Amino acid sequence: MSLQEIAFVITTTLFGDIIDAPTLKKTVYESLDFEIPLTNVHDDFFLLELFHGPTQSFKDIGARFMARLLPLMAPLEDEYRDIIVATSGDSGGAVANGFRDTPRTRVIVLFPNGELSSEQISRFISEKNVLPIEVNGTFDDCQDMAKKAILSEIDTPSGHNIVSGNSINLLRQLPSIIYYFHAYARAMEQRPGQEVVISVPCGNLGNLSAALMAKKMGLPAKRFIAANNANDVFVEYLKTGDFHPKEALITIARAMDVGNPSNLARIIDLYDGDMEQIRTDVEGMSVDDPSIRETMRKLADSYGVITDPHTASAFAALETKLKPGETGIALASAHPAKSGEVVSDVTGRKIQSPQSEAQPTDLRDARIVKIPPTLSALHRAMLIENHNK
Ligand SMILES: *Cc1c(COP(=O)(O)O)cnc(C)c1O
Repeated sequence: MSLQEIAFVITTTLFGDIIDAPTLKKTVYESLDFEIPLTNVHDDFFLLELFHGPTQSFKDIGARFMARLLPLMAPLEDEYRDIIVATSGDSGGAVANGFRDTPRTRVIVLFPNGELSSEQISRFISEKNVLPIEVNGTFDDCQDMAKKAILSEIDTPSGHNIVSGNSINLLRQLPSIIYYFHAYARAMEQRPGQEVVISVPCGNLGNLSAALMAKKMGLPAKRFIAANNANDVFVEYLKTGDFHPKEALITIARAMDVGNPSNLARIIDLYDGDMEQIRTDVEGMSVDDPSIRETMRKLADSYGVITDPHTASAFAALETKLKPGETGIALASAHPAKSGEVVSDVTGRKIQSPQSEAQPTDLRDARIVKIPPTLSALHRAMLIENHNK
């Protein structure tokens, strides 16, 4: 089965009792109008290239399905919808792009001051129905504010529904299940009958939650590897059973700089708190910046494969943990061009973005609203009206 055929079976399993088959089929083909290749790096090591969507990260897949499924599942009449999304880099662009043409909808992007590249900001700032809000705080502050907003802890403008655009929203997370089955199917074409281990670069643990849901749905993957960067809260949790959120450190794999991952609760719930079973299915490893760089350099020099730092963290963990006879897949979560500076610094190679760059935007002139990390400031910013008609 092709990627789209697999996607149709899975979306029918998940949503078939609320959305009819022809509509689901259309949703699948519109959302997945690109491929997700499984490429061999060397021996039993593969990369699943999840970055061929419009904003070049795996988040396009969840965001594109969500933008099409949400209006079908919860149609709007007189009211407006705010999709609120905290971003450490890639979510903002993916969600803004997904919802760019959705009627009566706008996307509120909360991002931490000074942590995004201008390339990342330009991905969402150019959409007319985006309200870009720069928060004088960290990503965890942004995430906290976005959560409080959906829990109605602030007064939202009347006639507005608020929905999370982050992976705590199942509608953004469930579509990721598709590519785990797809990856397995492609691996079986190349390594029939082998046991498959999948390494996931983790931040908020949305992608890993989807992997574990796929396993519960019957995906015959043997186990998963959770790669953290130096922000190792989840790896520590697997080791000790204790969860201690920490202030996030800034690393070269920025989209993984999360100190309080919001999907940990979901994983614990999925396993009914059975720590031994979680440890059977998931092995953790933290990969620091020097090891990420080393892996990027080695992949480029020895195999001619250019990876971004997030992908390299997953690959490094896979190389350490894969056992003889197993087939390993590392998720390539973003296109290397998205981290162009780090890539050229580490590998000495310049990498071209496969798509024409987003319109050059003079960021100082753009409509960025700057606020302190408080709910009252967020409330005031939300009074600006810029929904799609
Ligand atoms: C968001 C992101 C991650 C982390 O994914 P989570 O679902 O938050 O764990 C990893 N790599 C890239 C490139 C990302 O954008």
